[in-house]
Amino acid sequence: METITLGQLLEAVGGTLLGEFQDREALIQRVDTDSRNIHEGALFIPLIGERFDGHAYINAALEGGAVGCITARERENYLPGKFYVKVSNTQKALRDLAAWYKGRFDIPFVAITGSVGKTTAKDMVAAVLGTKYKVLKTEGNFNNNVGLPLTLLRLTGEHQICVLEMGMDKAGEIDYLAEIVKPDVGIITNIGDAHIERLGSRENIFKAKCELLPHVKGNGLLVLNGDDELLSTLRGHTTVPAVFYGKEEGLEYQAHITGGDSVSHILCRLTTPAMDREVRIPALGEHMIYPTLAATAVAERFGLTADEIEQGLTQFVPTRMRMNVLRRGEGITILDDTYNANPQSMRAAVSVLADSLGEWKVAVLGDMLELGPFSPALHSGVGECLGRAGIQCLVAVGEESEHIAQGARDSGVPLVYHCADKEAAKVVLEELIRPNSTFLVKASRGMKLEDLTAFLLEHT
Ligand code: ATP
Ligand code: MG
Repeated sequence: METITLGQLLEAVGGTLLGEFQDREALIQRVDTDSRNIHEGALFIPLIGERFDGHAYINAALEGGAVGCITARERENYLPGKFYVKVSNTQKALRDLAAWYKGRFDIPFVAITGSVGKTTAKDMVAAVLGTKYKVLKTEGNFNNNVGLPLTLLRLTGEHQICVLEMGMDKAGEIDYLAEIVKPDVGIITNIGDAHIERLGSRENIFKAKCELLPHVKGNGLLVLNGDDELLSTLRGHTTVPAVFYGKEEGLEYQAHITGGDSVSHILCRLTTPAMDREVRIPALGEHMIYPTLAATAVAERFGLTADEIEQGLTQFVPTRMRMNVLRRGEGITILDDTYNANPQSMRAAVSVLADSLGEWKVAVLGDMLELGPFSPALHSGVGECLGRAGIQCLVAVGEESEHIAQGARDSGVPLVYHCADKEAAKVVLEELIRPNSTFLVKASRGMKLEDLTAFLLEHT
């Protein structure tokens, strides 16, 4: 972040000063919302969550080095030498500050939403744009009403372009985020079943993702997945120009898998308005063509050459726990995709396992959360897909995963275990380790299935 003054903060959030401290020239070096990780010179913004209220940590933050804070409450005591800015809502203050701060930077903004593959697309877009520009991107999965403003507050005069991930779990959230950003390019990766419990139907999820569209600048560009049933209906119906990408004939940005080694990379043929060439992507799974295409479309928009695009694609590094290929002795491979899961990404991961080299393929799959009444059917659908893909063994972990196990049995998977929890799964896994095998480990974030990846790493 570039230094701002207390006076500018007051203007940005429309707050008033409480206590003695009145020096409007006081400097703010950065913004922190976690009092356990406070930095010297920071402004502390206490947020109110379901389980905690940051206001309880104001003193700790100020004593820990913060120069001042935002507060939605009057206080009994004010620490000397620290400022207190009173607002009605601290989260809104964070948002207002981020929106004001963003206004200081006349650079393009790229916003990415969708059900699956946002982080992957964000990292790919940033990797490609990074060959020509200095890029600020969302760190990890900082994609919500806190993470996105904090990301904007990391902008400095050095940055030439900003790539932001926008997540949601209910209607209105993308509207909230996109309104702050007013992106030059909007990407929607796909419409799936993630968060269907809250939203009720895929159409509602579609509508929620489409909240991005009216905020994209009129002279901007929409980059949409043309293979997606719902997104493809947007063709000809957007006010902002749109390009579509996918495998289907006739799309502006097309890609097909042409090869790969099942261990480290895929090869795909990219056909765009400006290029036609085979590129090597250091990631696994046919679904990787989608972030590749989205990144290529954005890159062409910002004037990158085919060589620069290819170089950027080659430099992509998958984030931790997202289909990381871990190799062990005796031909044992562990596909660590434990970051998160939903029906679409489970299927994509199963197809990576099916294409893997090991003779013995074990899927270690845990519950997919937040699917509500659709949960049993969506879980058994994943089980059936294991049978179709020819996977020999399933270890299903967790309550909902009973339905994955059932689907797998019904579709002819020879060896199916259902374990109530991770401890039970460890006992089963120990027996299943043998040379030339590949294990895929995947579940929703709440399951923390990385514990099983760690177990496998210790025991192979
Ligand atoms: P979150 O909602 O947790 O932020 P996300 O949308 O950012 O998720 P990623 O973290 O990029 O998604 O990917 C989640 C999982 O989906 C990973 O396992 C990844 O391999 C898989 N994946 C990525 N893109 C696709 C796709 N187009 N189709 C199916 N699976 C995909
Ligand atoms: Mg993400």
